[in-house]
Amino acid sequence: MTVTTTGDLPGEVYDVAIIGAGVVGTAIARELAAHPLRIALVEASDDVGDGTSKANTAILHTGFDAAPGTLEAGLVREGYRRLNTYAAEAGIPVEPLGALLVAWDSEQLAALPALAEKAVRNDCHDTRILDADEVYAREPRLGPGALGALEVPGESIICPWTTTLAYATQAVDAGADLHLNCTAGAIATGGAHGHHEIATSRGPLRARYLVNAAGLYSDEIDRRLGHTEFSVTPRRGQLIVFDKFARGLVSHILLPVPTARGKGVLVAPTVYGNVMLGPTAEDLDDKHATGSSAAGLALLRDKGARIMPELLEEEVTAVYAGLRAATEHADFQIRAHPEQRYVAVGGIRSTGLTASMAIAAHVRDLLTRCGLDPGPAQEREPPRMPNIGEAFPRPYQRADLIAADPAYGTVVCHCERVTRGEIRDALRATVPPGSLDGLRRRTRALGGRCQGFYCGAAVRAQFDEARATPAAAPVEARR
Ligand SMILES: Cc1cc2nc3c(=O)[nH]c(=O)nc-3n(C[C@H](O)[C@H](O)[C@H](O)COP(=O)(O)OP(=O)(O)OC[C@H]3O[C@@H](n4cnc5c(N)ncnc54)[C@H](O)[C@@H]3O)c2cc1C
Repeated sequence: MTVTTTGDLPGEVYDVAIIGAGVVGTAIARELAAHPLRIALVEASDDVGDGTSKANTAILHTGFDAAPGTLEAGLVREGYRRLNTYAAEAGIPVEPLGALLVAWDSEQLAALPALAEKAVRNDCHDTRILDADEVYAREPRLGPGALGALEVPGESIICPWTTTLAYATQAVDAGADLHLNCTAGAIATGGAHGHHEIATSRGPLRARYLVNAAGLYSDEIDRRLGHTEFSVTPRRGQLIVFDKFARGLVSHILLPVPTARGKGVLVAPTVYGNVMLGPTAEDLDDKHATGSSAAGLALLRDKGARIMPELLEEEVTAVYAGLRAATEHADFQIRAHPEQRYVAVGGIRSTGLTASMAIAAHVRDLLTRCGLDPGPAQEREPPRMPNIGEAFPRPYQRADLIAADPAYGTVVCHCERVTRGEIRDALRATVPPGSLDGLRRRTRALGGRCQGFYCGAAVRAQFDEARATPAAAPVEARR
């Protein structure tokens, strides 16, 4: 079990190399690592889940509104089922709040029966159309003018950070090599030895089979193998995160009636106890454009004022933006190229978090069709991840943990109530953070209303100290 961040890559020929350690690449690594295979997961960043996977709306979708019959519809439905089960086993925070798809005009109201019917075609049988009274009974702080809603009880909120980390942890624990700070470049396929030779920023990487899970860059990797079936257009989604005092305003995920361009602007609680408003949907050319814009935030405030005016009176904790890997196609672009022993996993736009485990199983099957014999799958225990969700006991609330180890009673980040023990555990974990931002995603430290103003120095000191000291055995606070 290895995580490397510097130095040349091992000289061995891996069975499978996966480019990109987002939620999709880590899910694939986890799936394949259950088999007796040598797996290399290479990631350009210093951490897993540092691309699109860290900045989304974090909804575990039922797939009720997917286009029936598409690959995406099937993988979202199956991914929802798999991830719900896995989250319970691995301790990934999930809250099954249910969604209300609110109709604000007669046209949207008229669209609800067709959406309910589409849900049935997507095997989602428990939706129900509510009249305005029922809607306001469920969500009294909704703005005036709602005419009705489609209730989708299965829609849930999830922690996207713990999900990716759990996959990566399980993959590495099962023997996969995770190579960070490792950007894949030119790819020579075939050759005298018949394997792929991938030039990386850390020297050559050799593998018999190749999976491209490079997210926004999956089209560029695909071109290096001679394919031109899809091009990625980054579709930016900006979001506003409101303070925890806003959490009492809303109990469901409040969705708009969807359009062809996406799911539209929603209001939803987060598993960390905040409320988010977003995302926008802006097609850009720049794959690095994860900044927010005044126009984007103004648009969100405008939409939010209609959905829940009181929300806009609350303090804003943070704004952020993520880039969806949209393509010219309306479906995921997952393609096997058996002659090259290569699988491209592109165009994983708005539902990749939900679909991740089903995508991984699908990719394993495609690799088999490309000639890979994965061997028997081993029975595997999922890792038990530290809980960072508000709906479950956190270490600072657990007298048993604090009695056993006072570090769990020493709060370092007061906004998010993160303890010294949790930060220590994250720094010693199987896949430790490469930066303070990575530490935030593992613990919530620095992510609260002060954004690190008060605890920043203390958190940094602990981070620096841990990186200067050889790791001791991890002592992790599980739920
Ligand atoms: C605003 C927004 C809201 C969303 N909401 C939801 C939601 O509510 N529910 C849901 O299920 N999904 C949602 N999504 C979609 C979901 O976030 C994505 O589908 C998912 O994160 C895609 O994961 P990925 O692993 O394919 O991509 P990424 O997370 O981008 O991972 C790709 C990785 O590849 C690495 N990489 C790229 N090129 C190279 C290279 N040459 N060498 C090495 N590494 C490389 C990158 O550094 C990156 O880490 C949303 C997306 C956005 C933007």
